Amino acid sequence: MNANGTQSLSARVREFIDHRVIPVEHAVETDPQILVKLRRAAREAGVFAPSAPTEYGGLGLSMLGQTDVLEEAGRSLPGPLVLNCAAPDEGNMTLLEHVATPAQREQYLRPLAAGDVRSAFAMTEPAPGAGSDPTALATSAVRDGDDWVIDGQKWFITGADGAGFFIVMARTGADAATMFLVDAGNPGLTVGRHIPTIDAGFTGGHCEVTLERCRVRSSAVLGEVDRGFANAQVRLGPARLTHCMRWLGVARRAHEIMLGYVVDRELFGSRLADLGLAQHLIADNEIDLAASRALIRTAAVALDQGSRANQETSIAKTFVSEAVGRVVDRSVQLCGAQGVSHDLPLARFLAEVRPFRIYDGASEAHRWAVARRAVRRYEAARPGKRSHD
Ligand SMILES: Cc1cc2nc3c(=O)[nH]c(=O)nc-3n(C[C@H](O)[C@H](O)[C@H](O)COP(=O)(O)OP(=O)(O)OC[C@H]3O[C@@H](n4cnc5c(N)ncnc54)[C@H](O)[C@@H]3O)c2cc1C
Repeated sequence: MNANGTQSLSARVREFIDHRVIPVEHAVETDPQILVKLRRAAREAGVFAPSAPTEYGGLGLSMLGQTDVLEEAGRSLPGPLVLNCAAPDEGNMTLLEHVATPAQREQYLRPLAAGDVRSAFAMTEPAPGAGSDPTALATSAVRDGDDWVIDGQKWFITGADGAGFFIVMARTGADAATMFLVDAGNPGLTVGRHIPTIDAGFTGGHCEVTLERCRVRSSAVLGEVDRGFANAQVRLGPARLTHCMRWLGVARRAHEIMLGYVVDRELFGSRLADLGLAQHLIADNEIDLAASRALIRTAAVALDQGSRANQETSIAKTFVSEAVGRVVDRSVQLCGAQGVSHDLPLARFLAEVRPFRIYDGASEAHRWAVARRAVRRYEAARPGKRSHD
């Protein structure tokens, strides 16, 4: 789709979110029938599954093409779910598109893109297992004839309750991991407790998942055996960037709500919007929003050009995850008591955006990686000089 096409698509998404989703956004989260109706309407409006490949019924947008569209979708918390571009399904679609066999794509990607099933990505484990450091992976998969047997404990697995299938990361060698497609009905996989978290916007919760003598066929290997860490990168970069796009939409909506308040509120003989300290907060919001959008676009272009874009996506993820928190917080502040009430959605937004500084790589993990790449780049550009390590 060319630039004009994505522009008109993002305008249609904006209209759809404003007129169809926002008026019922509270009800969507509690009444599954409303979600079904909205998804039908999204298909009819041609805005469904923007990230999924066209041959699987999606709109097949590039990363750059998704930037505005997912930002518009994100302006309502259930917007991405309605449009079938929510986490973790959207990231799993990218992974399946690039790594799955044709048979796996038919079995898993097609129903996922159609919105007929949900999915989960199961990597994180309780300490001392995998978290920020994936090499601590404790879940194991061992060959048994033509099968694999997976054992381990996962937690904080988004969407696990009700997912049709799981992409499970398991250790298959001293330095090697493999991804497996595990169906929800597998007797070796149990979805346990919903871990109560500050946010509430993800369907299927953030759950504990136990794998106990979980037997799968060798056809369940996603990508090559022992290539799990490398193949996971195919998902991680794009998925952290699409998260940035959606959360930027939430931040922009918070900013819009705040602007609506400050232009009407009279204080000390002037509009709140015209008081200098308020203008400082408004301007900082504008700067954070514009800088976030620019960093997202830079990383999207790099990904579209075929780069892994690790540095660009780390920089964008770190900045945007922190900026959206600042934007929502300033918006809360300028709306006074209403800002922290549930008459406005701002307090809810504040809770929803906070975990983004932890998942998809905590800010500290990304800063660590960004700094190491900067130093390596500097050292590589100085022929004859040795690094200190
Ligand atoms: C709401 C939510 C949803 C999630 N969904 C999923 C999911 O669907 N699937 C999944 O597999 N996982 C999921 N996770 C887990 C998430 O990916 C992990 O929480 C994250 O990777 C951090 O791992 P950890 O919690 O084990 O923290 P730890 O690895 O113990 O890290 C703790 C803290 O250490 C600091 N830190 C990390 N690295 C460094 C460093 N290099 N230098 C200095 N400090 C550092 C950071 O502040 C970090 O927050 C989710 C988490 C949350 C909160």
